[in-house]
Amino acid sequence: MNKPLQHIADAINGRGLSGSRSLLHDFTLEKELEIAQSLQTSLDPTRLIELFSKEVAALIPHQGVRYRNDDLDVLVKLGTQARHSCSYKLNLGDEPLGKLTFRRNRKFTDAEIATLEHMLCTLLYPLRNALLYQDALQLAQKDPLTGICNRAALDETLQRELSHAQRRETGCALLILDIDHFKDVNDRYGHIVGDCAIRAIAGMVAACKRDGDLLFRYGGEEFVVLMRDADLEGAVLLAERIRGHIERNPCICSGADLHMTVSIGVSILQPHDSPVSLFARADQSLYRAKRDGRNRICVAEDCYQ
Ligand code: GH3
Ligand code: MG
Ligand code: MG
Repeated sequence: MNKPLQHIADAINGRGLSGSRSLLHDFTLEKELEIAQSLQTSLDPTRLIELFSKEVAALIPHQGVRYRNDDLDVLVKLGTQARHSCSYKLNLGDEPLGKLTFRRNRKFTDAEIATLEHMLCTLLYPLRNALLYQDALQLAQKDPLTGICNRAALDETLQRELSHAQRRETGCALLILDIDHFKDVNDRYGHIVGDCAIRAIAGMVAACKRDGDLLFRYGGEEFVVLMRDADLEGAVLLAERIRGHIERNPCICSGADLHMTVSIGVSILQPHDSPVSLFARADQSLYRAKRDGRNRICVAEDCYQ
């Protein structure tokens, strides 16, 4: 059997192993089953770490737990910082599952470490399953061409962000962006160059937006930016920055020098907006920007170029 845990504890205090037996003795088969059952109740990595920490605490008191998985961008922090730590790089076969650290102000004894390692074995499979599920969820919300969030993610996020903004009475703005005459790019250079152009535009929009703004590929050559905590002035500023940046920076795709422009429709959250009404106003503004000549932004009744 693989030894799944790579022990990198800094907390071994050099005591004999006599205590190890009695603590391990407490960790009976019955307890092992109990923990395994409890860990089967969730596919959320954060919840699993919470449950595991609670089970561990009954035998090994601790003040804080930290779990980090860089591949899936999962970070769980429970409790508080403390002087001593006991860390494990969790692996299942060749599969890295992340790093788990327990903290407390008293050193961990050999007996506690032996028990903890035994208990960790019950965490590995449930954690692996939760991470696989998490990965599948993340993949389902990602656009494969550009790597940014897709329409499914937008539908979910829009509802959440709007409720949040309306509850806190903070502003929120929506930008819908459509590449002008994109069909011509495909017709002239082919779809591979067209794909490259869509990726380049996604990259340019991502570079213009603030960290807190959320970017989605809505459909073919259409993108949405959801701006948190934004008013009309901020939304127009960003839309204009994106429009100008794309106009000034041709992209080179397979040797083709592509001068592209975009039209942008902007809407600002109103007190009784639903995701549909907020989106519809930005969409109508986008159509007006197209009608008025493209390479411009439109907000409610105003247009800017
Ligand atoms: P407008 O200025 O009115 O927006 O004109 P347009 O040509 O951009 O609009 P239209 O909707 O007629 O064409 C959009 C084109 O985008 C048609 C479609 O083939 C292309 N497209 C959609 N998705 C993709 C994709 O993933 N890759 C490539 N290469 N092209 C795509
Ligand atoms: Mg379009
Ligand atoms: Mg278009």
